[in-house]
Amino acid sequence: MASKMASCIFCKIIKGDIPCFKLFESDKTLAFLDINPLSRGHALVIPKVHGEKLTDIPDDHLTEILPVAKKLVLATGAQEYNILQNNGRGAHQEVGHVHFHMIPKPNATEGLGISWPQQ
Ligand code: IMP
Repeated sequence: MASKMASCIFCKIIKGDIPCFKLFESDKTLAFLDINPLSRGHALVIPKVHGEKLTDIPDDHLTEILPVAKKLVLATGAQEYNILQNNGRGAHQEVGHVHFHMIPKPNATEGLGISWPQQ
């Protein structure tokens, strides 16, 4: 586990070793903009504890995830959006640290209190 964490890009983001556009942070949860967005405002919500798949994450590190995703939806003003989470390469998971995508339908970025960068 320690070596997986050392090479994990999202663990590096959590530690601040790799920059991100941060949207929310608490002791257990981090949310930031996806570097390769499918639409403007595409965000990722992650538990700070390292785990590859949803089943690797203790329940108490998951409780904030959907409330945070909901906050981000409200912040974008998006009326239509996807919340999704991939587990395993066959399920299109590319980064081996659990993450939930919040993907507004294209260009829903009115932004209530968040200055969305141009993407
Ligand atoms: P997956 O296919 O569900 O694993 O999605 C991984 C997501 O992580 C993709 O949408 C990537 O664009 C995103 N991503 C990868 N590296 C970074 C990064 O350094 N910052 C922000 N997002 C990233």
